[in-house]
Amino acid sequence: MEVLNLIQGKLLSAKGGEWLELTDPSKGKVYGRLPRSSAEDVNLAVKSASKAFKSWSATPPGERAACLNRLADLVKKNAQLLSSAESTDNGKPISLAAAVDIPRAEKNLRFYASAVQHFASESHAMEGEAINYTLRKPLGVVACISPWNLPLYLFTWKIAPALAAGNCVVAKPSEITPVTAYLLSTWVKEAGFPDGVLNILHGLGTEVGDALVRHPKIAAVSFTGGTATGAHIASVTAPRFKKLSLELGGKNAAIIFDDCDFEDALATTMRSSFANQGQICLCGSRILVEKSIYTRFRDALVSKTKKMKVGDPMDPKTKTGAVVSKEHRDKILDYITLAKEEGGTILCGGTQTTPENQPGLEGGYYIQPTIIEGLKYDCAVNQQEIFGPVVTIQPFETEEEAVSIANSTEYGLAATVWTNDLKRAHRVAAELETGICWVNCWLLRDLRTPFGGVKNSGVGREGGFDALRFFTESQNVCIKL
Ligand code: NDP
Repeated sequence: MEVLNLIQGKLLSAKGGEWLELTDPSKGKVYGRLPRSSAEDVNLAVKSASKAFKSWSATPPGERAACLNRLADLVKKNAQLLSSAESTDNGKPISLAAAVDIPRAEKNLRFYASAVQHFASESHAMEGEAINYTLRKPLGVVACISPWNLPLYLFTWKIAPALAAGNCVVAKPSEITPVTAYLLSTWVKEAGFPDGVLNILHGLGTEVGDALVRHPKIAAVSFTGGTATGAHIASVTAPRFKKLSLELGGKNAAIIFDDCDFEDALATTMRSSFANQGQICLCGSRILVEKSIYTRFRDALVSKTKKMKVGDPMDPKTKTGAVVSKEHRDKILDYITLAKEEGGTILCGGTQTTPENQPGLEGGYYIQPTIIEGLKYDCAVNQQEIFGPVVTIQPFETEEEAVSIANSTEYGLAATVWTNDLKRAHRVAAELETGICWVNCWLLRDLRTPFGGVKNSGVGREGGFDALRFFTESQNVCIKL
């Protein structure tokens, strides 16, 4: 597998001729290479995007939408190839990539192809005096930087609104999972995008990513990734007055009241804990259960979790695959060790493992889904993002206590509340310091809604018209009557 950059409509290796290795986490084996791009490649990509901007920004939204829809058609046509590539690159079960990642990538492209044609701006009449109207102009060349956990899903979630709004894009997927973005880049011309409108660079975040966010011609940065990286990017871009959207980490609480629909709460909490090996920013990593049902809920959750078996991600029957890399596996295992030091009891899992009777996968990065009990709400394991198949479980006695524990971290991305008391659902949702609150469900997404976090989980909102507003600059025009 050889990944290449897309610059000015051409598939190219890095100018410096250097490469990075591509590893299959299910086997722990190198299976390809990608360009180790540098500032030189960033300069070329930004130049090509700047050249394309005048014409692309003047292209009617309907024609831009047609390009996005044709790209969506190509994603659909190649869904099997993309699912298999995503699974190999990331370690996620192919069934998950085929059911969630790739269909959502297609949907993102179609959603913004449609949204841009319904996007409108305001007009403010000053009775008898003047009329104001707002123009929403594309920004120019923008940077889109995405992480490894939902590679094509989050990559398209950024480039689609940016392109729909008339910007030219230089995008950088994670160096750990670049393959699906590369495959997409091979169809950009066929979809009808003029050369230079979408450029895709591969390489290390600290090298090519850093050069990209610093580039003087980059007008805005849309970033999804870790909080520390987000803080660094904010420190680089703020003095350069670039627009910035940050979607960062989370330490989400699932609050389960005793009047919930028990089986539904149990099944969904399994999913919200361990889907994609717990590597979704929205996973509920702290499970808070009302004391009256604590033992019953905990025992049922542990019993179900013990039955989860890691398997070959490429096997369509596998529900739990590998975590993304050796470094990430070791980080997760370090947190499990820390949990023991902090007084936690491992109720299930807690170790690395390998799929049974699967020769060839011994070198892969697998962790048994893990539940930890007995930790204080304010210990490191309950405060820091682990981003793996590891959850903690703790009882609470009152609604106030549950909300206070849920709000105790520096993060504020999402929360899940389980109750059949309507008044309580509204009350608790409003009290939670999160950008998203699901009641009696999890990861139910309407793409029109605002998406993002508060506190250290991010700045700004993606989704719906919010993303189109981010990728445009408003200008007020005032005309005297
Ligand atoms: P990172 O912050 O390590 O990386 C994210 C992206 O930024 C990657 O493409 C990375 O490149 C790049 N990058 C790294 N350093 C720099 C830099 N100095 N300048 C510019 N770009 C840089 O996050 P992960 O990839 O590890 O993703 C996991 C994190 O993402 C978790 O914290 C998770 O919660 C968060 N996340 C948040 C979501 C949200 O919507 N709020 C959704 C999904 C994930 P490279 O990989 O090549 O180093």
